[in-house]
Amino acid sequence: MSSPVDLQSKPSVIERCTLPGADPASAVAALRPLVSEAAGTGEADAERLAGHLVSLARTYSTEPFTQLEAARHGLGVERPEFRLLLDTFARIPELRTAVEQGPAGKYWTNTVLPVERSGALDAALHGKPWFPNSVGLYPGPTCMFRCHFCVRVTGAKYEHSSVAGGNEMFASIIDEVPTDNPARMYLSGGLEPLTNPGLGELITRAAGRGLKLTMYTNSFALTEQTLSRQPGIWDLHAIRTSLYGLNDDEYQATTTKRASFSRVKKNLMRFQELRRERQDAPRLGLSYIILPGRAHRLLDLVDYIAELNAAAPDRPLEFLTLREDYSGRPDGKLAPEERAQMQEALSAFDERVRAHTPTLHVDYGYALESQRIGVDAELLRIRPETMRPTAHPQVAVQVDLLGDVYLYREAGFPDLKGADRYIAGRVTPDTSLAEVVERFVVERREIEPVAGDEYFLDGYDQVISARLSQMTADMAAGWGDVRGFLR
Ligand code: SF4
Repeated sequence: MSSPVDLQSKPSVIERCTLPGADPASAVAALRPLVSEAAGTGEADAERLAGHLVSLARTYSTEPFTQLEAARHGLGVERPEFRLLLDTFARIPELRTAVEQGPAGKYWTNTVLPVERSGALDAALHGKPWFPNSVGLYPGPTCMFRCHFCVRVTGAKYEHSSVAGGNEMFASIIDEVPTDNPARMYLSGGLEPLTNPGLGELITRAAGRGLKLTMYTNSFALTEQTLSRQPGIWDLHAIRTSLYGLNDDEYQATTTKRASFSRVKKNLMRFQELRRERQDAPRLGLSYIILPGRAHRLLDLVDYIAELNAAAPDRPLEFLTLREDYSGRPDGKLAPEERAQMQEALSAFDERVRAHTPTLHVDYGYALESQRIGVDAELLRIRPETMRPTAHPQVAVQVDLLGDVYLYREAGFPDLKGADRYIAGRVTPDTSLAEVVERFVVERREIEPVAGDEYFLDGYDQVISARLSQMTADMAAGWGDVRGFLR
């Protein structure tokens, strides 16, 4: 096999061929000589192949989980020609870039490709035991909020008496985790991590092993008092605070807790001041969900961040994760008027970020990223009939205070109906996390999905499930060596 074609000096019209408004004909023209060289074909064949390659790039840049046979049928080509197309695609790096930078490119670059590189997807595909590539610890025994969208069962919590034993169990997992990937472990919920009084010690233990933990929290308890009682919190790599509004009324409408916005803001302002005194303080970021009809609030969000930055001008907030609330839209589509409003709001937001918080890294996620570039993304929706009974513990698991190992990220809540079916096993003084996963996989355990189970999967779980199903279909169709299109 010869080496990839060098495109340094070629026009980037190929890279842009997947973007809205791109002219496929000029991409085909630019590709033609490269295809001739890469595939060793004459002019006429090169023209036809180049057209197919642009179509393939456009397909996988908008529908990344397309099966290879569906793509082949879409082009109307026989298997030998499709094989030639795949080989040629792999030898022209600009085509890969076109897919990765296309409307659904975040699926590829944020999740699919990094997990591919870890080997965890292959392990899941072949039913091999593998230490999970992502381990979420859910240490919170309770939560002070009662958010209306949260799947948590009202009043359900872990007994206080389970905290000490639970923390010993978490410590054993921290000691067990391979350290080749420092970002493998994170703290989240389930319930609110900061309600666990032993959290700081666990964080210090993990940091001592070189693990870079991110904590997902509502920051209601991120007070100066908590920080002095649990100084280990300073050993976190990052703190991601979920925001539930931009004033007390909005917060109360979502969390049911009065004056919670003011309290969280005060905590974050103080945290900012304290961060200034520590060179290696955790990175600080926010996550914000745009509720229907609230896109205009994005400008106030930038002002809020600018205010937090003013408390520590030399330590501005590092990141913001923006998502949209799709709960009322089963197909993930916006009405045309709403879509226009969203695009306008996003562009005004971009502008204000550049002006007032220029160092802020904004992660728009899959759907908003598409909308920013003018494409109405169709959201990935896994349904019970497309869930995989073997799940994907080689890729990700979540462990609660009892040591129960959950197969999906939204299942780890106490007393949540049906969620116990998604427990792979329990970590105990005699059973490690690796053993729980190994048993589940080796015994070939399966969970028959029923209606409603799809809500146990978060966005990440959905991407992993879709990817594994795509790979399974590609292998079954005889495309094992090229399964999944990009890797
Ligand atoms: S969403 Fe988070 S903060 Fe809100 S009630 Fe559920 S666990 Fe608590």
